[in-house]
Amino acid sequence: MNIILMGLPGAGKGTQASKIIKKYPIPHISTGDMFRLAIKNGTELGKKAKSFMDAGELVPDEVTIGIVKERLAQSDAKEGFLLDGFPRTVEQAEALNGIMEELGTKIDRTIFVEVTEEELMNRLTGRRICEICGTTYHLVFNPPKQEGVCDLDGGKLYQREDDNPETVANRLEVNINQTTPMLDFYENQGVLVKVDGSQDIDEVFDDVDEILQSI
Ligand code: ADP
Ligand code: ADP
Repeated sequence: MNIILMGLPGAGKGTQASKIIKKYPIPHISTGDMFRLAIKNGTELGKKAKSFMDAGELVPDEVTIGIVKERLAQSDAKEGFLLDGFPRTVEQAEALNGIMEELGTKIDRTIFVEVTEEELMNRLTGRRICEICGTTYHLVFNPPKQEGVCDLDGGKLYQREDDNPETVANRLEVNINQTTPMLDFYENQGVLVKVDGSQDIDEVFDDVDEILQSI
């Protein structure tokens, strides 16, 4: 089962991805998470990505495509994978098709999580993440039981540096411009399905799960 989760920043990709991998044994491959880990570890990749991420710009395609190609070649991705946040440009989508051909496989579904732009700013500025396990919360829409503390392991919740209103505005603009041509790309391949991402988290997951069960 080879799946792409697509959606503007804040649409709920990461939230749905954690629910999907609880039910289906496929690796969750998030380019944003890979870049953040590289920055935390001070690697070359992190150095290349940091300034773009801080500004809310896309990391250049040659860097991003390279890390995805390496990741998809690993053995745990052989039986399927869940891509989150990649591709984000038509060039990346085309490169991914090339990688799929080399690996002798294909994308089964591209699930577009659709949310209106107005909702995204609130979602992103209220997002909080556990510093230990990475679980995502929201101050209003999905709060932890105790303020500032992860329900699962008691870890402290932090706010991503790029979730401030200025950077969010730029991220939304950058991504909106790229999204329509990518939706056309996957529509033409006959693998695009849309879900209404403005529903409650569990309702969105019911729709996503129905799609996954139909594969
Ligand atoms: P993405 O990975 O697409 O950027 P996230 O999954 O991190 O998005 O979600 C962004 C924020 O919105 C988080 O704070 C999350 O808790 C919240 N969120 C996710 N899905 C929903 C939903 N269906 N309704 C309300 N808030 C949501
Ligand atoms: P969100 O979906 O909330 O914007 P991500 O964690 O997916 O967050 O991405 C954070 C940042 O990482 C992006 O703003 C961008 O700088 C970089 N990034 C992630 N995925 C890609 C990609 N496919 N292409 C280019 N840059 C990316």
